Amino acid sequence: TSQTMSGKVVLVTGASSGIGEAVALSLSAAGAKVAVGARRVDRLDALAQRAEGEVLPLELDVADQASVRAAVAATLERFGHLDVLVNNAGLMLSGLIDGADTTEWDRMVGTNLLGTLYMTHAALPHLLESKGTIVQLSSTSGRIANAGGGVYAATKFGVNAFSEALRQEVTTRGVRVVVVEPGFTSTELTTHISDPVSRAMAAQLATQMRTLQPADIAAAVLYAASQPAHVAVNEILIRPTDQT
Ligand code: NDP
Repeated sequence: TSQTMSGKVVLVTGASSGIGEAVALSLSAAGAKVAVGARRVDRLDALAQRAEGEVLPLELDVADQASVRAAVAATLERFGHLDVLVNNAGLMLSGLIDGADTTEWDRMVGTNLLGTLYMTHAALPHLLESKGTIVQLSSTSGRIANAGGGVYAATKFGVNAFSEALRQEVTTRGVRVVVVEPGFTSTELTTHISDPVSRAMAAQLATQMRTLQPADIAAAVLYAASQPAHVAVNEILIRPTDQT
């Protein structure tokens, strides 16, 4: 493998499965030192065993500001600097707005939106120092809202809005902000949906198309993160060819 990320330090949230795991493995294979955060630390330990390079597993709940600050501090303590933050942790609890269990809304806003904000806030001084890169895992739902996905889309539209403001604030100080917007990608994301109708619809959709794989998204993240310093890849929208 070419070592395009050699010497770089990366922190990936939500690396215990799916897209985050693939991003961590791919950046590690490209030579980066990678700190990986999630709540299921056993999975992060297994990931560290499989990775080609140095991987630091961190217990992390992005919805908890103290946990967020501790994870950033531990990354700096171990690796000395931070070049790339990948805000990937997220969940999609689909369902109609009418009659919804609002604790699911709290979890999505707390993780997808506030978690991204807290992580960005904690890491930003270090990224300004290194002239680093922030990669936000948004979604096609950050551009188009659909029935049954209102609150999820609200969190992803929120991530996109925050990221554009952030870009304007930090780009001339050398920090790149990258928004990645995947379409349907095969991960455990839809298995956590509690509403049986929404969960069945997602499972059905997966059988009707050649879905994206986590590695497809990792390739997009690696592309953006390995550009020369004067090139800012601001947005990557990537759908399965079969997805309308
Ligand atoms: P997965 O469910 O496979 O992975 C989600 C990851 O987020 C897990 O590692 C999980 O780890 C972590 N996570 C959840 N809550 C928290 C938390 N509070 N603190 C820290 N980590 C947390 O889903 P995907 O890989 O599909 O999703 C990754 C991102 O990609 C999400 O932001 C999602 O919205 C986005 N996305 C996914 C698409 C898809 O079709 N799959 C399409 C578009 C965007 P743990 O439970 O161990 O904490």
